[in-house]
Amino acid sequence: MRITVDAGRCVGSGMCVHTAGEVFDQDEDDGRVIVRRPEPPARTRDSVRRAVDLCPAGAIALSDPGAPVP
Ligand code: SF4
Repeated sequence: MRITVDAGRCVGSGMCVHTAGEVFDQDEDDGRVIVRRPEPPARTRDSVRRAVDLCPAGAIALSDPGAPVP
């Protein structure tokens, strides 16, 4: 799994940080998303998928080229 975000779409709601705080953070100045772990550890993958679903801006995308199916 690999995470990409479109910070230009991010509205700074913080849902991703609330849902998967080990993986996402927010910029202290403008509140936009920062990806701390672009390749998140397996234990966080369910919460990362929830964060994608909950993001009100559709700013988070997942891809996993070549990644083994868990
Ligand atoms: S949930 Fe979406 S809109 Fe909210 S901070 Fe995260 S990326 Fe930005």
